[in-house]
Amino acid sequence: MKKKWLIGNWKMHGNLASNKALIESLRAELPQPDERATMVVCPAFPYLFQLAELTKDYGVGIGVQNVSDHLQGAYTGETSPLMVKELGGSYAIIGHSERRQYQGENDGLMGRKALAAIDAGLIPVICVGETAEERDSGRTHEVLGRQLDAAFGYIRTAHDKIILAYEPRWAIGTGIAATPEIVQTEHEFLRQRIAIRDKEFAAKLPIIYGGSVKVSNANAIFSMPDVDGGLIGSAALNAREFVTIYRAML
Ligand code: PEP
Repeated sequence: MKKKWLIGNWKMHGNLASNKALIESLRAELPQPDERATMVVCPAFPYLFQLAELTKDYGVGIGVQNVSDHLQGAYTGETSPLMVKELGGSYAIIGHSERRQYQGENDGLMGRKALAAIDAGLIPVICVGETAEERDSGRTHEVLGRQLDAAFGYIRTAHDKIILAYEPRWAIGTGIAATPEIVQTEHEFLRQRIAIRDKEFAAKLPIIYGGSVKVSNANAIFSMPDVDGGLIGSAALNAREFVTIYRAML
């Protein structure tokens, strides 16, 4: 069976006390993650070190929500993927729609960030997804294809060094997830598009879904054949919900 992934995006939430409480609750709900499915949590940058300490003897991966597209240099306010690696991070979410929307990140920058993350030894979780307007005007595949080509155009890496996340913008933080059929259709489209370059890589590449996944819809979404896991926002802040969603993947 293909390995599954559940990645929690904590966004700009948390503090020292609540992070500790959340990890303690996670441990209580799930003493050790299952080897068939990797669980990852992505706190805000300042808490990376705290999370690495808290999860030292717990089989949960740590990631960040963004990284610089440079490894070092005069880039005020940026965080190098090398620094993330040194502080215990192993994953970096790249091109999240909130960064596209509020920080003006574009496809080219996303590709460069993914490359820098790989160079530093991190696993990039590359997010692609269309807006409601793009879907309504029948441009979903044009947009996904463009984003995918920008990210994967010059990346040469193994299938286990990269994760692709389909995150339709209209489903993120809205409470309205894509239907399992839409998720399957778009995951299949993404996989086929990658297969044009490399069939074996495409078949093995994890493609996860994000956008209002919750306890009530997790089973149906994860039962789709091309869904290899989830990227979870608000439900990742509740240990019981996050673990229930995790178990739905197994
Ligand atoms: C996300 O931020 O990537 C996300 C999927 O959020 P939510 O689950 O809250 O829609």
